Amino acid sequence: MELAGRVAVVTGGSKGIGRAICLALAAKGARVVVLGNTDLSGAEAVADEIVRQGGESFALKTDVTDLSDVENMVEVVLKRFGSIDILVNNAGITRDNFLIRMKDEEWEEVIDVNLRGAFNCIRAVGKVMFRQRSGRIINITSVVGLTGNPGQANYSSSKAGLIGLTKTAARELAMRGITVNAVAPGFIETRMTDAIPENARDALLKAIPLGRMGKPEDVAKAVTFLASDDASYITGVVLRVDGGMAM
Ligand code: NAD
Repeated sequence: MELAGRVAVVTGGSKGIGRAICLALAAKGARVVVLGNTDLSGAEAVADEIVRQGGESFALKTDVTDLSDVENMVEVVLKRFGSIDILVNNAGITRDNFLIRMKDEEWEEVIDVNLRGAFNCIRAVGKVMFRQRSGRIINITSVVGLTGNPGQANYSSSKAGLIGLTKTAARELAMRGITVNAVAPGFIETRMTDAIPENARDALLKAIPLGRMGKPEDVAKAVTFLASDDASYITGVVLRVDGGMAM
């Protein structure tokens, strides 16, 4: 199997896109550490599912905004699995509001999880990959980081920032053979998009050339590709998985 023996860490792996990424990496043979936060039981269920299918996995509580949690995660993974070969920064939240009404807390919470969280994990795991002289980092951004979106000043800024972070990390870590890429999903069927009202959903669907919402598995396939040896000469890209929405 393509990723046999590689150790993958996925933030926010308890549900939605993160869960699909964990299952897809495990299906390719990776040993998967499923990180959960307030929903650790969801992360444990994903790890159990991987083990039931014959894979190796465990779940761990890691709030990506808490540096001590992130550093502890690195220690636990190294003790248990010995390396970290793949890091997927998937944890993300939305707190939508019209820009001129947006509260400080709504701005800060989203930047903290979506941008600082990825920075915390890249810095901590990057040190391990630097020593190993190998590694794959994949950041889950969003097409709204490229296009902007009304009601999402905080979210689109965090996702645009994540693209800048991806490119800088790609340049800094390339000397050790580490690749850093971003996957930008469009409109994917998850709990995050369930909250979108019916009329807005119809308008969004009209804007997708391929005429359907994406599935978490569509995003997971792009991630497993970027984690694979086939993608060894690809770094610093933003791969849109959006049915053509943001081209
Ligand atoms: P989701 O709400 O189903 O999952 C988000 C995950 O992030 C959960 O596991 C949650 O526990 C975790 N999380 C939240 N705060 C955290 C914290 N402080 N520390 C650690 N984990 C934390 O959302 P989803 O739709 O599966 O989204 C996954 C990623 O994909 C996010 O980064 C999101 O921005 C991005 N994305 C989603 C869509 C979409 O249409 N669903 C589109 C573009 C980008």
